[in-house]
Amino acid sequence: MTTSTHEHYAIDQPSSARRIMGHIEALAGPDHTSSVAAIRRYAYTSEYRRTIDYFAAAFRELGYDVWEDPLGTFVARNRPAGTPAFGLGSHCDSNRNGGKYDGTLGVVVALEVCTLAAELGLDLPLQVVSFLEEEGSGFGLMLLGSRIVAGDVTERELREVTAIDDGESLWTHAERAGHQPERWRECARVLDDLSGWLELHIEQGRVLQDTGGRIGLVEAIAGYVHADLTFTGRADHAGATPMGWRADAGLAAAETALEAERLAQRAGEGTVATVGRLELDPGLINVVPGRAWMTLDCRSPHQESFEGVARDLERYARRRAELRSLDLAWEERVTVPATQLDAQLVDRLDHSACASGTSPLRMISGAAHDTMYVAPRIPSAMVFVPCEDGISHSPQESADPRDAALGAEIMLNAIVAST
Ligand SMILES: [Zn+2]
Repeated sequence: MTTSTHEHYAIDQPSSARRIMGHIEALAGPDHTSSVAAIRRYAYTSEYRRTIDYFAAAFRELGYDVWEDPLGTFVARNRPAGTPAFGLGSHCDSNRNGGKYDGTLGVVVALEVCTLAAELGLDLPLQVVSFLEEEGSGFGLMLLGSRIVAGDVTERELREVTAIDDGESLWTHAERAGHQPERWRECARVLDDLSGWLELHIEQGRVLQDTGGRIGLVEAIAGYVHADLTFTGRADHAGATPMGWRADAGLAAAETALEAERLAQRAGEGTVATVGRLELDPGLINVVPGRAWMTLDCRSPHQESFEGVARDLERYARRRAELRSLDLAWEERVTVPATQLDAQLVDRLDHSACASGTSPLRMISGAAHDTMYVAPRIPSAMVFVPCEDGISHSPQESADPRDAALGAEIMLNAIVAST
């Protein structure tokens, strides 16, 4: 990619915002969600199918070729395979109790960028991707579509992972939906001809809102470790067992939760640690907990920070378990590396944003995104727009289409500068 000086394209933002909102509202309608109270759609359901068909029709109208990879990730492109194109997109599946904007806004804005490019007579080589099953709502595996495209899965995993709702395998669901899961290795071709990649997403935090910012430029996406900790002691009568005679699993869990907070604060630089679930067994008011199960989610844009916190926390938890005569099982579910995004592409977005009259905020993403699995192969960046009160994964999710239109203008100009 080269940076060229070019004129700045100022779009009709109000008209763009209306178009974006039209798509968002259409995709929140009864054909596109299985719930009336929230947006609920995930891979291989009829509402998901209709959502992909909606985008396919819109891209066909623009003269794009549309196809799906062997598992169902959607692709639209205006150049033949084997020739370079600039990539953009997100995902259009939702959380089980989701809102209208998470993911879908990124695909809608990608469509808007393609529409604007056509209207302005710019013959930009573009490819839009809507990744399958980002939220993990259907099969419990987050970022599944982009992981498959990155080749970061095994055939066994695809054959064995089952749907939360009916227990049938992803493989079976994919076949029934008309896909060819046995060709899963070919999904990697989705990224073959991309010269760059941009994803717009709602921030899912309150930083932009609270600083009055309209555009965030993501420099890095936090990596994370997810682990389960189980302390096992002895369930005793709460009245009949003196304090010194107990093997209270709940207290070790409580100490460990506080230590996770302390370690994350000490690590700083955007490191966060959360104990999101803590269950005591038998869970009765008059019984000393014999077993405590807790989860750990620890993230940072710096690999060594979240790995260090997890390591130190395990050491601490083992020490506390020993002092309290407990057993500790520490089981790591997954470690996802931190992702640095492309500095040149972020700079180009920055220039475009300034030319569009806004000061973008450089930020890190604490939330995981499909772009994590694109960035190792393709120079990538992300654009954040504010969402009201930072609320996401909820029907209360709200974002301003004018910010999304501004995002589309910035992305369009950054792509022009990149191609
Ligand atoms: Zn998302």
